[in-house]
Amino acid sequence: MPPLSVLQPIAHPIFSQHKITVQVKRDDLIHRFISGNKWRKLKYNLLHAKAIGAKGVITFGGCFSNHIHACSFACHQQNLPVIGIIRGEQDNQNNYTLAWAKHWAMKLTFVDRKTYRMRNDEHYLQQLQRQYPDYFIIPEGGSNALALTGVAEVIEELSQQCEFDTLITPVGSGGTLAGLILGDKSQHNLLGIAVLKQQGYLESEVSDLLPLTSKNENKWRIAHEFHCGGYAKFSPQDAEKIRNFSQVVGIDFEPVYSGKMILALLKLIESGYFPAHHRIVLLHTGGLQGLGGMFERGLLNQAEWPSPPATPVP
Ligand SMILES: *Cc1c(COP(=O)(O)O)cnc(C)c1O
Repeated sequence: MPPLSVLQPIAHPIFSQHKITVQVKRDDLIHRFISGNKWRKLKYNLLHAKAIGAKGVITFGGCFSNHIHACSFACHQQNLPVIGIIRGEQDNQNNYTLAWAKHWAMKLTFVDRKTYRMRNDEHYLQQLQRQYPDYFIIPEGGSNALALTGVAEVIEELSQQCEFDTLITPVGSGGTLAGLILGDKSQHNLLGIAVLKQQGYLESEVSDLLPLTSKNENKWRIAHEFHCGGYAKFSPQDAEKIRNFSQVVGIDFEPVYSGKMILALLKLIESGYFPAHHRIVLLHTGGLQGLGGMFERGLLNQAEWPSPPATPVP
């Protein structure tokens, strides 16, 4: 099978200064609405849901979640009814992300934070399953064993596309990094950039997702110095750096996931982390729909950033 996404070399003065090469695996281009790594993670989940004859899908996410956005479109496309259990109040139900989720027929159920915290609790999930016996439950972010199989295909594709030393990905729930670890049989360095403040926790999340035979902790690590203060937090200077980088290389990045990977890349290169002639691949996980909610909240100036995939809000 031909690769699902292209691999694009990028040029930046700092790369040549440090004699390294950087290419971007453009998973952001896989689909207009289904964000890159969410496409990979949903693929085998939805095939499985269909194979077992599920009448629908239930999943979890925050009000601005890329996974909720992606899952609603993907289920719509697959004719699978889908329920989104959303953290927080209904106040946000008409924001960019949720307006589109509703447009694509996701049924939204808002739960308070305390209930939401039980999303991985076995007892809670059993109860939910009894309530919706024929629905297939996909965890927050889509991260489960089936997701890993989909993400592992990134590595298969890369093996046809190039040789490289280090593959870098942003880390949220850890499913993407775990899938890359599972897929990589060639001992590449796999570097995850934590986008939230959870040192230690993220490592165990990744490790717990992996089968025992694939844990191989020698080849992967998560860097925790680049979350800019926490999930979806960033300073105007951080945002400016990301925007500048996008302009220089001609690829859009957003400041919640892929942009933090860019900030990390720049700092690591400056600090001499990568030896000369190192070959880096960045996994562009997508996520540009998230900009919609940032504009609405006035966190970014819409005039300075790319448009999210579909405007205006339906
Ligand atoms: C969800 C998401 C991630 C994080 O992936 P995990 O598998 O949860 O670690 C990274 N980038 C984007 C754009 C995302 O939407």
